[in-house]
Amino acid sequence: MCLFCDFANHEKQALFISETERTVSFLDINPANEGHVLIIPKLHVDSILDLPNEYVIDITEESRKIIRAFEKVYNAKGYGVMQNGGANCEFGHFHFHVFPRLENDGFDWIYPKGEKEVSEKVAEKIKAAL
Ligand SMILES: [Zn+2]
Repeated sequence: MCLFCDFANHEKQALFISETERTVSFLDINPANEGHVLIIPKLHVDSILDLPNEYVIDITEESRKIIRAFEKVYNAKGYGVMQNGGANCEFGHFHFHVFPRLENDGFDWIYPKGEKEVSEKVAEKIKAAL
C-alpha cells in the first residue's frame, strides 16, 4: 500500500533493528541524530486513533527497548519520541520516530509563528471534549 508497508513486508531493504509480530523498526535515512529509528506497525493506518490497542502497546514497548539501547550505545541521557498523525503522517502510515538526545545536540522544536492562547479557557475546552 505504501513505502512503509513495503518495509513491513520486507519487500524493500532497510537497516532493520528489530521486529515483533506487529512491528518493524529500522534506521531513519534522514536522522535527527545518529541512531534515529522508525517503528512502524504492520498495519496501514495513518493515525494512532485507528490503531488497535495491541499495536499501540507493541510500539510503545519497542520504543522503550530502543531507548534502553540508546543509553548503552550512546550513553544518551535523554531521547525524543515523535509522531505526526492524520493528514500530517508521512506515507499515510502511522509510525514512531525514536532518537537519542545528546548533550548540546542542537535539536529543537520549530513552532509556527503567531499568537497562541494559554489559558484556563483552553484547558477547559479540551477537558470538556475528553
Ligand atoms: Zn503503509
